Amino acid sequence: MIPIAKPLIGKEEKKAVMEVLSSGMLIQGSRVERFERDFANYIGVKRAVATSSGTTALHLALLAAGIKKGDEVITTPFTFIATANSILFCGAIPIFVDIDERTFNLDASKIEEKISEKTKAIIPVHLYGQPCDMDSIVEIAEEHDLLVIGDAAQAHGAKYKGKRVGSIADLECFSFYPTKNMTTGEGGMITTNDDEIVRTARVIRNHGSIERYEYSRLGYNYRMTDIAAAIGIQQLKKLDRFNRARMENVEYLTRELSDMEGIETPYCRPEVEHVYHLYTIKCRGRDELAGYLEKNGIGYGIYYPEPLYRYPHLKKFGSELSIAEKTSKEVISLPVHPSIDKKDLDRIIEAIKEWSG
Ligand SMILES: *Cc1c(COP(=O)(O)O)cnc(C)c1O
Repeated sequence: MIPIAKPLIGKEEKKAVMEVLSSGMLIQGSRVERFERDFANYIGVKRAVATSSGTTALHLALLAAGIKKGDEVITTPFTFIATANSILFCGAIPIFVDIDERTFNLDASKIEEKISEKTKAIIPVHLYGQPCDMDSIVEIAEEHDLLVIGDAAQAHGAKYKGKRVGSIADLECFSFYPTKNMTTGEGGMITTNDDEIVRTARVIRNHGSIERYEYSRLGYNYRMTDIAAAIGIQQLKKLDRFNRARMENVEYLTRELSDMEGIETPYCRPEVEHVYHLYTIKCRGRDELAGYLEKNGIGYGIYYPEPLYRYPHLKKFGSELSIAEKTSKEVISLPVHPSIDKKDLDRIIEAIKEWSG
C-alpha cells in the first residue's frame, strides 16, 4: 500500500525527544521557546506562539484578535472542519464565500458582497499548500477594517510573491499534525508581527494566567509540550528538503497525467510557490477512480467530500455555493509526500492510465 501521507521521523528527532525525556522538563522548558524563535525566523515574522494543535492555534488566534460572540468571520466552506469550528468556539458566525475553480481557494472577488457591519475578520485557507490571493484579500481587509487571520495548516514554507505564508496576514495559524508537511505529533503555531496580540495569546494559552495563580481572564490549556517542540525544531530544519522532494514528485506526476483525458492536474498561480501538502486532481468519475486505486493498493484522499455548511452544526450558516459543490464531487488527492519513490509514482501513473482505459 502506498499511503497518502506519512511522517518522516529520523534519528535527529528521536535523539531530541530522548534528551527532553531525560531532562525531566517535559513542558515549559527551553524547547518551546527555541522552536517559536526558529519558526518565526523561518517564516520571516517577529513572533510565533506555539500551541497544542492547529485547531487550538486557530481558536487562540481568533480570541487574541478579539473575535467575540456575534461577530462575523468570512471563510471558505472548502476546508477542514477545524477552520469553521474555531469561529464557532468564539461564539462568532462563519460566513462562507465560494472558491476559485482553479486554485480551490477563497474567491477574493466574492468577498465584498458578504461583508456586513458585523464582519470582523477573514480567514483565508491556503488549501493543499497553495497561497491564497493575498494582495486582493489584504486590500479588501484594509478597506473594511478587517483582520486577516490565515489558516496555513497546509502551507508550511509556501511563498506568495517571494514572502512566506505566515508573514503576510495579520496572524497565521499552522498545524503540525502527522500528515502535514512537517510534524510534532500534535502541535500548532501562530505567527505574527503584533506584540500586543502575542502577549494576549500567551496569557490565554496558559489559563489566562499572567503570573502563577493570578488569572486575568478566561483562558485554556493550549500549551505545546517540550517533547513536541524538540521534534519540531528538527523537522523545521528538514522542511525545505521535504518540500523540494514533494515538488519533484509533483513535476513527475503532472508530466505524465496532464494530457490524460478526463483528468485535470493542479493549477499553480505564477506568483506563488506551492508546497503541495496535497496533490489534488479533478476527475470525472472520481468515485470509480477512488475504488480502482484502493483495489490497486494506492492510497488517496477526498479533501473534502462536502462543503462545510452541509454538516448539521453548520447548516444554518449555509447557502449553496456552486463552485464548492461541484469541486467537492470531483477532487481526489494522490500521494506526493517525500517518502515515496519513482517506482511508487510509476505505479500510481500506471494505475490511472489503466483506469482511464
Ligand atoms: C490540519 C488542519 C487544521 C487543524 O489542525 P490540527 O493540528 O489537526 O488541529 C486546520 N485547518 C486545516 C486547513 C487543516 O488542514
